[in-house]
Amino acid sequence: METFTVEAIVLKTDDFGDANRVVTLFTKEFGKLEVNAYGCRRSRSPLSGVTQMFNHISAELSRGAQVDTLREADVLHFYDALTKDLERLAYASLLFEIVNRMTLPRQVEPETFDLLKKSLPALSSRTPKIIALIGACQFLETSGVQLNFSRCVHCGKEIVGDAAISLIDGGAVCKKCVDFVTECRPYSEGLRKTFETMLGFDWRDDTKLFFNSKQLNAAENFFVDYVHSILGSGLKSVKFIREFLL
Ligand SMILES: [Zn+2]
Repeated sequence: METFTVEAIVLKTDDFGDANRVVTLFTKEFGKLEVNAYGCRRSRSPLSGVTQMFNHISAELSRGAQVDTLREADVLHFYDALTKDLERLAYASLLFEIVNRMTLPRQVEPETFDLLKKSLPALSSRTPKIIALIGACQFLETSGVQLNFSRCVHCGKEIVGDAAISLIDGGAVCKKCVDFVTECRPYSEGLRKTFETMLGFDWRDDTKLFFNSKQLNAAENFFVDYVHSILGSGLKSVKFIREFLL
């Protein structure tokens, strides 16, 4: 039996059978992997505490013909605050759902692994909505469907003042080009500055973050709509946020 060790973040879990779970890991070494964890829902299983969403773990897997199996694992970091606070849980779930839905299995993406790893302590201690949106903004930038926030997607000119933004065309549209796009929405200077700040955010910077709540809501709606337009279906975490947090 071939076994191998990975460093991973638990992205998602789905129960199956009496006591088993499919655990979606985002690994440093191989990108996203869905693995079977047999018996892990039994209270005495050594895997029971390990296979919880948001855990940062070291795991030993055995190679399967179709699906790998989780054999043993150690928790490197457990983010208690995410399971105890509804708002933290909801926004951490939003970021994790976006990453899960928009990545393919076995695509090595060290920058996505790093982003998830850095986002967890921040989601646990800072304003979770801001952190989740920064995470989503930076993830989209490396995902192949990045948006152009600062330059017009039609003429390439730097955006100055208020403009428009298009989900279909992938970014900002200057006032002169708005007639050339089929779909666009208002894009205020404040929203552009919000996106630019999020994109440039340094995770080592622990000074207090200030965002205008109106811009923050506009940024959230924009990312949610953009991800929805790419995936063709909505996100469960958004439904949860809108039903229970607003
Ligand atoms: Zn233009």
